[in-house]
Amino acid sequence: MDVVVVDPAPERGASRVAAGMLAPVTEVHYGEEALLALNLDSNRRYPGFVAELEACTGMSTGYRASGTLSVARDADDLAALDDLVRYQRGLGLEVERLGRRELRRLEPALAPGVRGGALVAGDHQVDPRRLVAALGEACRGRGVALLAVRASAVRSGAVTVEGGEIGATVEGDAVVVAAGCWSGRLDGFAPEAIPPVRPVKGQILRLRGRATPPLATRNIRGLDAYLVFREDGEVVVGATVEERGYDTGVTAGAVHDLLHAAVELVPEVGELALVETAAGLRPGTPDNAPLLGPTHLDGVVLATGHHRNGVLLAPATAAAVVELLATGTTPPAIAAFVPGRFERVPA
Ligand SMILES: Cc1cc2nc3c(=O)[nH]c(=O)nc-3n(C[C@H](O)[C@H](O)[C@H](O)COP(=O)(O)OP(=O)(O)OC[C@H]3O[C@@H](n4cnc5c(N)ncnc54)[C@H](O)[C@@H]3O)c2cc1C
Repeated sequence: MDVVVVDPAPERGASRVAAGMLAPVTEVHYGEEALLALNLDSNRRYPGFVAELEACTGMSTGYRASGTLSVARDADDLAALDDLVRYQRGLGLEVERLGRRELRRLEPALAPGVRGGALVAGDHQVDPRRLVAALGEACRGRGVALLAVRASAVRSGAVTVEGGEIGATVEGDAVVVAAGCWSGRLDGFAPEAIPPVRPVKGQILRLRGRATPPLATRNIRGLDAYLVFREDGEVVVGATVEERGYDTGVTAGAVHDLLHAAVELVPEVGELALVETAAGLRPGTPDNAPLLGPTHLDGVVLATGHHRNGVLLAPATAAAVVELLATGTTPPAIAAFVPGRFERVPA
C-alpha cells in the first residue's frame, strides 16, 4: 500500500513521554479479560516487531527482556498483591510470588523494608522514544510520505488538512484515524459516532544514573509508582493518572509524590539526577479498551483509544489494521474493540 502520514508533530504525543512498560500480566485489571488477550498477543509479537524494525533501520528500540517485579511495602500492599496474584493465576498467567529475601536477592537495590513481591518474567520494556524514532526512519526508508500538517476532518476516501503545499485534501482508498486523545476532535463523524476518546493526564519523571551495573535490572512496580531501568542508565518514574482535560502542566505535588514513592521502593534513586519532568495525555475510552476497526464512514478506520497500553499494543494494532485494510474483514482479535460498541442511536 502507498501510505501518507498526516501529523503536524510526529514523534511527540503520549508516545514520547510513555515509560514503555510492556506489562500485560502485571497491569491486568479485573474485568478486562478481552483486553488482556489482545495485550498478551501484542507482547508476543514484540520481539519479532523490534527485530524487523531494528534490521531495516539499524536503530535500537531499547527493547529489553527485563521482567517486572511488583513490590509490597506493607501489610495492606501485601494483601492487595496476594489478591492480584490469585487473579493472575486464575487466568492461567505466569507469576511467581516472592518473599522479602528472594526479592532482595534478585534486586539488591530494593529498600530493606519491602515485605514481598511477585515476579512476572514475561513483562518487559522498550524505549518509546527510540521506538518512535525507528518507526519514523522505517517509514522514510519505505517511501511513506510524512506530511507535517494538521488534519481537520475525515470522510470516505479523504482527509482535509490545514496548511501545507499539497492542497486541502489528501485522498486514498482508506483513512486510518490514529490521532491519540485528539481523535474525537476531527470533523466528519456523525454525532453518535464521534470517537469517545478523552485525554487522561500522566505526569512522569526521567532520572539518570550509572549504566553499569544498573541500579536494578527489572521493572519495579509499587502501589503508587513504577520504575523502569534502561540499559543506558535512564530511570523512568511514573506516573499519575488524572482527569484534567488537555492540561499538560507539571505540578510540584506530582513530582514530589512520584519521587517519594520511588525512593521508598529504591532508596538510591534519591542520589540520581532528575533530568526531565513531563506530562502526556493517554487516549482514554469509556471502557479503557481501544477503538479498533471500521466506522460508519466507508473506508475510515479507527486505531486509537489505547489508554495505558498504546506502546504495548503497537504491533497487534498494526497487524490488525493492515489485515482489515487488506481483506476488508475485521480480524477476530479486534472484534471486541470495534468502535460501534459505543454508538448511541440518535433519539
Ligand atoms: C505518563 C504516561 C506513561 C505511559 N506509559 C505507558 C507504558 O509504560 N506502556 C504503554 O504501553 N503505554 C504507556 N502509556 C500510554 C501510551 O503512551 C499511549 O497509549 C500511546 O502513546 C498512544 O499512542 P497514539 O499514537 O494513539 O497517541 P499519541 O502518541 O498521543 O500520538 C497522537 C498523534 O496524533 C497527532 N495528532 C493530533 N491531532 C492531530 C490532527 N488533527 N491531525 C493530525 N495529527 C494529529 C499528534 O501530533 C500525535 O503525534 C503511557 C502514557 C502516559 C501519558
